[in-house]
Amino acid sequence: MLPTEILDRLIPSSVTPVAEWEQRFPPRAMPAGAEVTRFAPSPTGFVHVGGILVALIAQSVAVSSDGVFILRVEDTDQSRYVEGAVEQLNRSLEYFGITPDERVGSGAYGPYAQSERAAIYDSFVRALLEQDSAYPCFCTSDELAALTGRQQAAKVPSGYWGSWATCRHLSDQDVAARLDAGAPFVIRFRAPYDGGTVRRVRFTDRVRGDIEMDDNRNDVVVRKTMGLPTYHLAHAVDDHLMRVTTVVRADEWLSSVPLHLQLFAALGFEAPAYGHIAPIVITDGKSKRKLSKRKDPQANVDWYAESGYPVEGILCYLQGLANARLQDQPWQQVLREPLRLEECSNSGQLLDLAKLASICREVIADLPVDQSADRLLAWARTYDPELAVQIGEDRQTLLRVLSIEATQPGRPRKDLATWGDFREKYGFLIPAAFTLVTDPADERFQPLEADLVKQMAATVAAGYKHDLDGQEWFEQVRAAALALGFAASVGEYKREPERFRGPLKEAANVVRVLLTGSTRSPDLYEASRVLGADEVLRRLTSLA
Ligand code: GLU
Repeated sequence: MLPTEILDRLIPSSVTPVAEWEQRFPPRAMPAGAEVTRFAPSPTGFVHVGGILVALIAQSVAVSSDGVFILRVEDTDQSRYVEGAVEQLNRSLEYFGITPDERVGSGAYGPYAQSERAAIYDSFVRALLEQDSAYPCFCTSDELAALTGRQQAAKVPSGYWGSWATCRHLSDQDVAARLDAGAPFVIRFRAPYDGGTVRRVRFTDRVRGDIEMDDNRNDVVVRKTMGLPTYHLAHAVDDHLMRVTTVVRADEWLSSVPLHLQLFAALGFEAPAYGHIAPIVITDGKSKRKLSKRKDPQANVDWYAESGYPVEGILCYLQGLANARLQDQPWQQVLREPLRLEECSNSGQLLDLAKLASICREVIADLPVDQSADRLLAWARTYDPELAVQIGEDRQTLLRVLSIEATQPGRPRKDLATWGDFREKYGFLIPAAFTLVTDPADERFQPLEADLVKQMAATVAAGYKHDLDGQEWFEQVRAAALALGFAASVGEYKREPERFRGPLKEAANVVRVLLTGSTRSPDLYEASRVLGADEVLRRLTSLA
């Protein structure tokens, strides 16, 4: 054990005693079975959709047990500090309706940002030093690199452990001499390993069940040169003092559990329950890999907001990824259901954008048309301001556009998965957003010749009547086509191709493309109702 005078030079004796922190943050008075969970992201300026999945599960576990859900900002890694990242994190959480009970600025177990907790960590690091569960290490990065080289040559696992851990064995005089020389130091945890075979450790994970793995023998850094703690120490102290009962986190941390259990034991804390959540994966060629922050735009939650997926759809989809029993249930139901750690899968969940889109189509189709209009506008104001102006001018038209071919009265059609789809699918109905088709040789008219295209357009326009019922309206298109020598049906055309200039549908396609800009569109008659007579005529006569 280090003599007090050396200890005081590492962490001054003036730090608040551990017992005081324990008193200040007493065990919570909660109903039996209540779980305290937390979401503990590092604010790096990027919110990963996998993080949102973890947060949803953590929140649900707390809410459904009448517990507490905490948001803790793990910002001790200054090299990763990004301006505005906390605001971005808060925005994303708000977008997904994730509402922690305790967070920066609200709650009795704070501060909730690790950068404001340095004094707390120092108390616990000092306690570890006092009981000889930690020691100062003066190794430089060069020395550590050389150590790794020697370990590779000796074919032993690399790391700072056992007899390889030079500073673990320094005498008090050596430590004092280095401090005198002003050498920078970190504090390392003294792992309970004294050589020989590594023990096996067993624990139960709420997601993965019983697990057995090699115990930790590395003397990991718990306090860095600049005085800030590492994740390992900080999260243990925080989870203990915030009285977290259940650690829900990404399964990249699973391999650290043996170390964490050692730390909890050395610090005299009761270990929490764990639930390690498998990552979201994506298919890449023939194999699957984790959704990557660098390679996949869909890893970033901003992508979903920008694309305009309705948030209920994303939430429903993520709930289904978390607990398979929620797949293929109506989304309204899914959003009311609790998530259970025990039902989470322990292997990577495939991100299926087609499935997400199909849920989102249901969501949009279930929204009252008035609400769709509001949400579309809100989305467009941020992500497509030009569209916002075009659709914002005339609400009645927008409501009619959204109601076209509705399967349920007052509800939009099922072909919008995102607000971003609106422009392509319905934009043609908004005169200000429509680009007139002017070239009779445009490929959308194929296989018809430009001349014939012009004749068809001119014939329909010449006798155009607007106020007809659906059948009558289409009859005028048909009559124009037959007059120009088209066959009434594909069958008729095929029997005697030399008698006709093409089948009716090719002629009708001229009208479709002129009115909608597309060879595929919703029902033309309904579209013509929204457009009105003048606009229909303007489009029918747009060819040069
Ligand atoms: N800050 C860690 C991360 O961003 C948190 C892990 C945990 O939840 O304990 O991955």
